[in-house]
Amino acid sequence: MRIIITSVLSILILSNCMQAQSVFEQNFEQESMRLDLVLAGNKSVQNAYLLEIKQEPYWGGSLTNLIDSLGYGEYHFNVIDKANNEILYSRGFCTLFEEWRTTEEAKFVSKAFYQTVTFPYPKNEVVFQLDERKKDGSYNNLLTMAIDPDDQNIRKSKLPDFEVAKIIDKGSSADHVDFVFIAEGYTLEEMDKFKKDVKGMADYILSYEPYKQKADKINFWAVCSPSVNSGASNPRKDEWLSTAINSSFNTFYIERYLEATDVISIRDIAACAPYDHICVLVNTDKYGGGGIYNHFSIGTSDHPKAREVMLHEIGHGFGGLADEYYTSDVAYQNFFDLNVEPWQPNITTLVNFSSKWQHLMKASTPIPTPVDKKYTDELGVFEGGGYVEKGVYRPAVNCRMKTNEAKGFCPACQDAIARMIDFICE
Ligand SMILES: [Zn+2]
Repeated sequence: MRIIITSVLSILILSNCMQAQSVFEQNFEQESMRLDLVLAGNKSVQNAYLLEIKQEPYWGGSLTNLIDSLGYGEYHFNVIDKANNEILYSRGFCTLFEEWRTTEEAKFVSKAFYQTVTFPYPKNEVVFQLDERKKDGSYNNLLTMAIDPDDQNIRKSKLPDFEVAKIIDKGSSADHVDFVFIAEGYTLEEMDKFKKDVKGMADYILSYEPYKQKADKINFWAVCSPSVNSGASNPRKDEWLSTAINSSFNTFYIERYLEATDVISIRDIAACAPYDHICVLVNTDKYGGGGIYNHFSIGTSDHPKAREVMLHEIGHGFGGLADEYYTSDVAYQNFFDLNVEPWQPNITTLVNFSSKWQHLMKASTPIPTPVDKKYTDELGVFEGGGYVEKGVYRPAVNCRMKTNEAKGFCPACQDAIARMIDFICE
């Protein structure tokens, strides 16, 4: 009997999956549409402008989960069928611009940042709708425009002629997570080192949960994008190099904050492979990194803690996780509204804690949880997290989202990353 029930169940699951795939086939090509945008403004206002629309040859994302069910990100976009108003595709993401808007400088200066968004290439006319999440959690529309996929001016650039290596190959992009690593600060002569560095990074990532138990679901790609100079730009030493994506340390005047605003170059390079998440590997032994949800993650190759940092940054960039630390030097001010439950899965203001990791906790653990020896290795609700000492709570005394010395991700972070992997692989 159980065999019959199991097979009926598998047929049902399979037919649901095939139905979802036919929704994809009805509406999308297995290519990408990319919108290059400019986000501009200051602390109090922001606007979004279109630069250009591009067609890219690969689509690395899910063919099944087209509608975002996670609700992460400071921004959210919908791709809507123009004929019947149905939402065909949606995702959330974060930006460096929105981080900058929380700095002191944004009170006095207006700035513009490149931003890019990709989705599967629509077959018919669609409406693209971009919203920002306001402090109170509601959304404000930034841009709405109709797009004709047959528009003559949609740019179909030739891909750059870079070597693309599949470093770990577990199967098709449609039902696997594809991490694409792009080379930054590696000269053409250093590409063997780059591929070795990516392999080392991939092996390290896959040795930590939940990546370890999901290892057969994850591909790693390396795009060998050469730089004129070897190394990384370091403004504090007045060292400026010519590199593939113009990354630099000292973002927002924080020495270890390694970032890049040239997301157009990053996407041009990443387009050489099908991908779900972009990782930039910078060829230096200096300490630093950055990770922004559904944008990209960036880290260095040769610092003794480089692998720990990259795993942490991918926690932000891929997993949508918040920093669980609150004592380090950051440039942000009032990053969280304590009256709103943050969207990040690994912090809470206790406004709606039952939507977070409560289901993973022992019923006997107090909420909030005191930092006491008794709870050192327990999942709890510990005060301090997300750069805020009071009123924001984290799931563990220590976690890879808090320090490089943690044994790995806490169970709440592991659960969130595992859900992301499943969402992409379905
Ligand atoms: Zn954690």
